[in-house]
Amino acid sequence: MPNLDLVVNEIADEMRQRPDRGEVATYIPELARVDANAFGIAVIDADGNVAAAGDSDTSFSIQSISKVFTLTLALGKVGDRLWSRVGREPSGSPFNSIVQLEREQGIPRNPFINAGAIAVTDVILSGHQPREALGEILRFMRFLADDPAITIDKAVAASEQRTGFRNIALANYMKSFGVIENPVDFTLGVYFHHCAIAMSCKQLAMAGRFLAHEGRNPSTGLSVVHRERARRINAIMLTCGHYDGSGEFAYRVGLPGKSGVGGGILAIAPGKASIAVWAPGLDNAGNSHLGRIALETLAKRMGWSIFG
Ligand code: GLN
Repeated sequence: MPNLDLVVNEIADEMRQRPDRGEVATYIPELARVDANAFGIAVIDADGNVAAAGDSDTSFSIQSISKVFTLTLALGKVGDRLWSRVGREPSGSPFNSIVQLEREQGIPRNPFINAGAIAVTDVILSGHQPREALGEILRFMRFLADDPAITIDKAVAASEQRTGFRNIALANYMKSFGVIENPVDFTLGVYFHHCAIAMSCKQLAMAGRFLAHEGRNPSTGLSVVHRERARRINAIMLTCGHYDGSGEFAYRVGLPGKSGVGGGILAIAPGKASIAVWAPGLDNAGNSHLGRIALETLAKRMGWSIFG
């Protein structure tokens, strides 16, 4: 097997030199301030060895990667009843699209497009105050990453709260179908704040380990979810984790992955590794341009594609 440390360092060097960096997201003004030249990668193998390079300790806005963890929490809270509120089919549409919602009675296609993630957040919120729901999400991230220092970037959350007109429209539209139970402002407040959680590649790769190892953290032995649930979350990441770029990501990388507009991607090599990359420039579908190329290179050199 190729040496993981070597491969990870090679990839960081190669990515640093590439002129094509994609476009940093600007629709959340605070995200536009990020350095487009940043690049980080962290890979944690089954034995807990960490291979990292580049800006792997720098915190970035995890944005939609948080949706993997809110999905996990919502499934823990209501189990399969979640699927009456949100589907699990790829949408083939951009992450913030509203068109399918009208035809499909306000039920979002999957938990990873914005509408679906807002519905999932609403499930977590029910029975709680927004502050408590957010506290639960943050505690879960700190527990998974084994790092109590993880926080929410309040400036990013406030920036999105001021400019999140699309998400406000999506939430109100779903509310009109009865898909959102709580006051729309409350649900969106929790959603914007969990998207604004700031983490480094190393922390994120740590948080994803349970998905790579049948629902357990293999280092501590602690179980997070049943293995069947981990398998299913991975399936949804593969089919829906990159919105209308999900087919391309599966084709090129061949691993379950979830992207965020902050430029991060969490990818899972089942049984082998949890991987986080960060490169802020995005492609046309709003997924990290160099992040995807880095993962494609890693999966190829390590022979990690789930398709053999
Ligand atoms: N908070 C972002 C939004 O709602 C998340 C989108 C993303 O990361 N793709 O627009």
